Amino acid sequence: MKIRQRRVSKKLKGSKNRKKAANKLGRFHKKITDKRVAYQWDVASKIVSRKIDAIALENLNISGMLKRCKVKIDENTGRFLKNGQSRKKGLNRAISDASWSELILKIEYLAAKQGKVVIKINQSHSSQECRNCGHTDKSNRDGEKFICTECGYHEHADIGAAKTIRDRGLEIVRGDSAKLAARQLNAQKVSPRTYVQTW
Ligand SMILES: [Zn+2]
Repeated sequence: MKIRQRRVSKKLKGSKNRKKAANKLGRFHKKITDKRVAYQWDVASKIVSRKIDAIALENLNISGMLKRCKVKIDENTGRFLKNGQSRKKGLNRAISDASWSELILKIEYLAAKQGKVVIKINQSHSSQECRNCGHTDKSNRDGEKFICTECGYHEHADIGAAKTIRDRGLEIVRGDSAKLAARQLNAQKVSPRTYVQTW
C-alpha cells in the first residue's frame, strides 16, 4: 500500500501515469475491502449456523472505544503527562481494521434469516467481574489475564468475558421464553434491524 501510494505521489500531477498509478492503488484498496467483507461473512455464518437458538453479543460502544484518551496535565508543573494515547492508537487501528460494527450487522442479518435471536448485552464490567465469586474490580484484569484479587480464580480475560456475556444472555432467554417464542415465529416477517432486541 505504501509503495503504491508513493508511486502515485511521485508522478507528475495531472499526468496519465499518475492516473494509472492511482487506479492501481484504488484496485488494491478494493481488494483489501473485498477480502475483509468475505472474511466477515464467513465468520458471521460460522457463528450463526451453529446449532443454537440465540446469539449473545457484547453491546460494544465502538465509537466510544475509538475515542482519544483524555489529556492529562500535571497540576503542579502544568506539563502534559503520559495518557496512553500512543498505546491506544494501535488499539484504535485494530478496532477499525476489524470493523466490528459491520461484522455485528452481518451476524444480525444472518440470524434474522435463520430465525435466531440476537441479544445484545451491556458490557458493564463483563471483563472485570470474577466468574467464580462475583467480585468486580478493575485490578482483576491485567492485560490478557484475569486474576481475581478476592478468590484467586484465573482465566484468559477475553474468554472469561465471553462466558459472562453468554450467561447473561441465557438469563435473559430463560426469563423471557414466551416473548422469545413469539419473536421466533415472526422471525421471517420482520426486517433484521427491528428483530434485534437490546437489553
Ligand atoms: Zn473471585
